[in-house]
Amino acid sequence: MSTVFLLDPLVCLGKPDLYLKVNQQLQGYFDRVGRAMRPAEKILVAWIPAAPTPTPLDLLVYFTPVEYSVVSRFFGKPVDPLAVSHWGYTQFQTANGRVTVAASEVYAKSLEPDLLAKLAFHELMHNKLVTGNGLHTRNGLAQATVGPNTDLSAENIADLAAAMHNPVPQWTGGVDLLLSARRLRDAGDPLWYL
Ligand SMILES: [Zn+2]
Repeated sequence: MSTVFLLDPLVCLGKPDLYLKVNQQLQGYFDRVGRAMRPAEKILVAWIPAAPTPTPLDLLVYFTPVEYSVVSRFFGKPVDPLAVSHWGYTQFQTANGRVTVAASEVYAKSLEPDLLAKLAFHELMHNKLVTGNGLHTRNGLAQATVGPNTDLSAENIADLAAAMHNPVPQWTGGVDLLLSARRLRDAGDPLWYL
């Protein structure tokens, strides 16, 4: 069994029902992926309030506010979530042509649970399929623009089901960075996001 960890250390979703709805929708998507695996497997989707310890078969996605890209800190390259059209970001570190760590985030530009779940699934496809813009040539939730009318497709399910056993280590260093930013923000520091 693998786990999809959802993290929101900066509490940008905020409302209990929002967490529940995003979790339920993603669980539904990953139930379909798990059923398409041979043999079928259970994939658990869960919010985790502490620092997770994912195995390379697990997945992890951060939800962040538009002021703060945590993945850009992982990658060492600035990203302004307000300036990018994509409402999420996934990056990889590689060594000798192999991916050593992957990091994904979704910007909570909208507090629409359906959209947040779809964006998270999109970034997790980038992550598990270890692919950049090439993903956007696929249909359904793999398309470059994911909106309320975009849906999980048979192709998405098949692509991810085939990849779930590929080990992709997940970056957990974002938790501490986001918790530090939260402490500054909650203490009233106007530059908390820098
Ligand atoms: Zn994308």
